Amino acid sequence: MADCIFCKIAHGEIPSTKVYEDDTVLAFRDLDPQAPEHVLIIPKKHLSSVLDFGAEDRELAAHILTDVVPALARTLGIDAGGFRLVTNTGADGGQTVGHLHFHLLGGRSLTWPPG
Ligand code: 5GP
Repeated sequence: MADCIFCKIAHGEIPSTKVYEDDTVLAFRDLDPQAPEHVLIIPKKHLSSVLDFGAEDRELAAHILTDVVPALARTLGIDAGGFRLVTNTGADGGQTVGHLHFHLLGGRSLTWPPG
């Protein structure tokens, strides 16, 4: 999508600190980290939020959850201590970038509930 900041990151038009990449998924460090480890996991194809997931995206969604998240948690060293996986959705969900992304946060004790 032309003016989507995360599409531009996915296409290498805006620099990012990548921590994982394959054909369909990119993970990079958040610009404004809220924990010692704060990574954003995005599909390379433009989806606005989880509401955009369709039947054709089942493999992609499963890949993110069953392959990418566990592998990244282990690579970042937050698997043993624990972590949080969050996808803010829409205005009330606090979503500020309209390209589906999962926040992977860890490296400290996280509080609940969020604000
Ligand atoms: P949201 O508020 O939509 O759940 O999360 C958007 C996240 O994207 C925020 O945590 C914000 O810091 C991060 N972010 C926004 N613009 C950029 C950018 O250009 N580069 C990186 N690495 N992160 C960004």
